[in-house]
Amino acid sequence: MSASGTPPARKPRFPAAAAPEPTPTPRREVLRPQRPVQQAAQDAARRSAPSGVGLTSDAVRRRMVERLARGGIRCEPVLQAMAQVPRHEFVDSALAAQAYEDTSLPIGLGQTISKPSVVARMVSLLHEGANARAQGHLGKTLEIGTGCGYQAAVLCLLARQVVSIERLAGLHEQARQRLAPWRAQRLMLVWGDGRLGHGPSAPYDSIIAAAGGDDIPPAWLDQMAVGARLVAPVQSDAHGGHMLLVVDRQADGWVRTLHEPVHFVPLKSGAE
Ligand code: SAH
Repeated sequence: MSASGTPPARKPRFPAAAAPEPTPTPRREVLRPQRPVQQAAQDAARRSAPSGVGLTSDAVRRRMVERLARGGIRCEPVLQAMAQVPRHEFVDSALAAQAYEDTSLPIGLGQTISKPSVVARMVSLLHEGANARAQGHLGKTLEIGTGCGYQAAVLCLLARQVVSIERLAGLHEQARQRLAPWRAQRLMLVWGDGRLGHGPSAPYDSIIAAAGGDDIPPAWLDQMAVGARLVAPVQSDAHGGHMLLVVDRQADGWVRTLHEPVHFVPLKSGAE
């Protein structure tokens, strides 16, 4: 059975016990559940035990990763990293039951954690940058928009060093606590305006932004090493929303490639 939550195309399957009526009417037919019972039971178990064994087991993350692979994510290191990070620990416990669905979720202060498919897509693109390909990992990485810290944790498994900046002190502090086990190793969390990048650790091999502005701030371009790649949402006048932009720094300049439309929170100025 598919783990994607897709309803069966035709007749649902039922165990023998699910049809006890001797004389079913057409009306009862209509009232039958539209999903296999096994799948409904899994959903119910997940809802009734949001912080139980279901979420802490590897199986739930493996299913999420299988869905990402079916959705076209081919980058094996990214899939492996996402199979390891417990996404439910980065959201409010009331939302934990939804943590492995492909949905963005509120993380407080009007911000959201990106959908797993968007994180996977952006980090996969980052992994195809020239320096990342040469090194086999993301190298020195800058993230703008720490938020709840989920993506920072994923990056930690794929990079030599991660600097992650958040402008909202409340989210920065929360991420600091959640990421304590990861921070010691290779993660630096910074509270400040990420539009300025982080000069002291530059240049970076990989830069990823989780918030979208009108254009790419000049500091990000300056802080890219030759061979570095940047992936960020950017406002597109033609599209009327955000598009995913990839910038590669080559020896003789920066090459920009626009990808698909995406939806992100705005890149704001200043820290508060
Ligand atoms: N990667 C995050 C996504 C968080 S949403 C996660 O896994 O949860 C984007 C975040 O970008 C928000 O927390 C928002 O406050 C932050 N942000 C917006 N503008 C910013 C800026 N100029 N500098 C740093 N962070 C910024």
